[in-house]
Amino acid sequence: MKRLFISLGIVLALVLGAYYFAVHTVAGQDALLARAAANIARQSDPESPGLRVHVCGSAAPLPAPGRANACIAVLTPEHFFIVDAGSGSSRNLGLAQLPMQRLDGVLLTHFHSDHITDLPNINVNAWATGHEGPLKVYGPPGVAQVVAGFNTALAPDRNYRSAHHGEDMLPPAWGIMDAVEHPLNATMSFGDLTITSFAASHEPVEPAVSYRFDYRGRSVVITGDTRVTERLRAMVDDADLLLTDALSLPIVSAMHQGAVAGGRERVARILVDIQDYHASVADVAALTRSTGVSMTALYHLVPGPRNAVMENIFRREFTDNMVLTHDGMEFELPPDSGAITIRD
Ligand SMILES: [Zn+2]
Ligand SMILES: [Zn+2]
Repeated sequence: MKRLFISLGIVLALVLGAYYFAVHTVAGQDALLARAAANIARQSDPESPGLRVHVCGSAAPLPAPGRANACIAVLTPEHFFIVDAGSGSSRNLGLAQLPMQRLDGVLLTHFHSDHITDLPNINVNAWATGHEGPLKVYGPPGVAQVVAGFNTALAPDRNYRSAHHGEDMLPPAWGIMDAVEHPLNATMSFGDLTITSFAASHEPVEPAVSYRFDYRGRSVVITGDTRVTERLRAMVDDADLLLTDALSLPIVSAMHQGAVAGGRERVARILVDIQDYHASVADVAALTRSTGVSMTALYHLVPGPRNAVMENIFRREFTDNMVLTHDGMEFELPPDSGAITIRD
C-alpha cells in the first residue's frame, strides 16, 4: 500500500511539473504556441467522397450563447456552398477551418437580417484566403439589391486591404461580390451536384426559398425560414437529410408570458408575431413521421436553447430520427448509400 502511495505521488508530481512547465515557463508556452499555430494554419478539407453538411449557425435572432444565426455549409470534394450568412457564422466557418478559398457561392434563402449580415465577413475571408474571382451570391429576386448594398458599404475596406497587401494578392475586382438571381423555383447544375430552389412560405416575407442539394445519390434539404408546406413535403419525401427551421411553442409561449408579466410590451408582441411564420417542432415532427425523409435536423432554432433543459423541451416531440443541432455539428453522407454519420 505504501508503495502504491509513493508511485501515485511520483505520477502526480510529474503531471503537475509538466503542467507548470507548459503553462508558466517561456519555453513551455512557446512549445504549446508552435503546436497551436500549426493547427490553426491547417484546413479542414478531407477527401470524403460524399456530401458533408456543416452547421455554421443554428439559431434565430433571439440571442443564445455559442450559437450563430442561420448558416449551413454543404461540401463535396468538388463543391462548397453556404446557405445563408447569419450573424456570427463567418467566425464559425473560420473556427471550423473550412476551405474558404474554394467557396463556390453563398445562397440566400431570403433577406431577413439574421440570414445575411455576415455576408461581408464571409466575402472578405474568401478573398483574403485566395478565392479567385468575385464571390457569387445566389438568391431569389432582390438579391442584387442586397449584394450591391454590401458592396457599396465595403468599398473603403476593399481599398485599405488591396493597398496594404498589394493588388497582386488582393485584386480589388475580386473583392466585389457578384449577385446571381434565380427564379423561386429553379434548378442549377454544377457537375455532379444539382441545387434545386423551391418556394418557401414565410409570408409576409417574399420572396423566400428553400434549397435541395442532390449529389451522387444523396440529398439534403435546407429550409431557411418556412412553415411546413405541401411543396416542402414533396421535396423531403425521398431526401436523406432535412435541416429545418423550428420554433418551440412551449418556450416561446413561456417567454411571451414572462414579457407580459415584466411589462415588456414590444417584446411580448414580437413573441406573438413570430409564431405564425416558422415551422413549429410539432409540425416538423408530423412532417418527419409522414414522409420518407431519413433524418430531420433542427436548426434556426426559435429561440436558440441556452441550456440542457431548453434543449430537452425542444426534444419533447421528437421522433427517433430527429436531432437538435448546435454550431459546429456535421453530417457526413457517403455516396450511393443510406448512411448518415453525425460528428458533434
Ligand atoms: Zn430567420
Ligand atoms: Zn426570416
